[in-house]
Amino acid sequence: MASNSLKPSVVFHSQKDNQYKLSNSTCKQRIYKLKALKKALSQTYKDQVREAMYKDFKKPFAETDLTEIYPVIGEIDHAILQLKSWMKPNKVNTPLSLLGSSSYYTYEAKGVCLILSPWNFPFNLTFGPLVSAIAAGNTVIVKPSEMTPNASKLMQTIVEDLFDSNEIALLQGGVELAQELLQLPFNHIFFTGSPTVGKIVMKAAAQHLSSVTLELGGKSPVVIDDTVNFKSTAEKVAWGKFINNGQVCLAPDYILVKENVKQPFLDELKNCLDKFYRNAEESESYGRIVNEKHFNRLAAHIENAKENGGNVIYGGETNAKDNFVSPTIITDLKPESSLLQDEIFGPILPIISFKKTSEAITYINSKPRPLALYVFSKSKSFSKKVLANTKAGSSCINHNVIQYSNHNLPFGGVNNSGIGRSHGVFGFQEFSNMRSVLKQHTKSPTEFLIPPYSGFKQKLIDFTLKWF
Ligand code: NAD
Repeated sequence: MASNSLKPSVVFHSQKDNQYKLSNSTCKQRIYKLKALKKALSQTYKDQVREAMYKDFKKPFAETDLTEIYPVIGEIDHAILQLKSWMKPNKVNTPLSLLGSSSYYTYEAKGVCLILSPWNFPFNLTFGPLVSAIAAGNTVIVKPSEMTPNASKLMQTIVEDLFDSNEIALLQGGVELAQELLQLPFNHIFFTGSPTVGKIVMKAAAQHLSSVTLELGGKSPVVIDDTVNFKSTAEKVAWGKFINNGQVCLAPDYILVKENVKQPFLDELKNCLDKFYRNAEESESYGRIVNEKHFNRLAAHIENAKENGGNVIYGGETNAKDNFVSPTIITDLKPESSLLQDEIFGPILPIISFKKTSEAITYINSKPRPLALYVFSKSKSFSKKVLANTKAGSSCINHNVIQYSNHNLPFGGVNNSGIGRSHGVFGFQEFSNMRSVLKQHTKSPTEFLIPPYSGFKQKLIDFTLKWF
């Protein structure tokens, strides 16, 4: 049956009834499901995934392989290798005051979970968290974004092919469906999207005290000093900024480059973009903006920049017929320009220069804490100073964006850029309740400390306070 014909509350209750079966599932049973998902993405539906992404925003096949399919397969392989150890109870020491007992904690499934995902990496950001939820033994309702309809339709087919809806169900719909789902008392909500909607999700979660993971966005800076190799730095930044047409939560949002090397760095950056895309509108390696709304938002940013004295030194071309925005570099922006206020989430890169390191740090700290902060420098003390005096969800030194691909690193934001962590064991833990268990084997010393509190008992309490 199509999940869309199911009512959210009906699916929710069927999953609620089924949750203990899943939370008691074995490691082998969970791995079986993960392998089925891997096969679907890497074999059965691989070509359809590429086609869906091409239809949704002309995403090049190579980018779909690298940023939609590969990260989920990597996440699955890692979980398959590690799941047995993640599921093991963890013994801990017991203090002398609790003599005769032993203690451990274990990761049990949270129960019925909701995953709300965005459009910019639909497969990656829907199935990625789903891998962690399955590994942890949960039932899940998934609602992908309405803005990438081809991806959402295919994901529904895959989910229905692999899972019963009382275990995992994918419901398609827009804001109204998301809001209907958010009325339900989920045990955990995993949301990836904008900080604005993140606040709505957290408010709704508060009604039921559902726990939340919020994977949000923001303005991620790149700081470049004068010790770097311009060519390789420019190449890495150009790749990190313009992949997926700049529609990447982790993409460099703006560059802070040391004044004395601004020009050579910009020259290399322009060379790289010429090499990457030549004529971007004709290039098979360059995608499109997801829809008219986001195209208009980005076109308005470019107009606003020009009105605010911005100097478009590369690109700046747009074509509304095809939601095309060329790779664009803008310098000399006034601080009030919209590009320096809002998360850009598109192929426009503002350049700001600084003379002293403290200026760059002050600028970064004048904005909400970013999802990522990147530093390019050969000087250890420079990188150390920037990292020590700023906060960010993650950082990369001498590269950008790739920290996302290390499953051994927790991924997430801080305050405005998010709450909680995903990937690898951190994703497994996010979808688990850490349950503490203490087992009393013999008579407990605390039995000597129960009321009525006689003088002798007070002496025992004094002794306990002094020695244990
Ligand atoms: P969005 O917040 O508009 O939408 C995300 C999801 O929320 C969608 O499923 C959508 O249907 C739903 N939604 C939208 N409005 C809602 C409302 N009023 N109430 C309830 N649900 C609602 O985000 P988007 O435009 O799809 O994605 C772009 C944003 O996501 C950017 O800010 C980007 O930085 C962020 N992002 C973060 C990460 C990360 O891992 N931290 C990854 C990708 C994207």
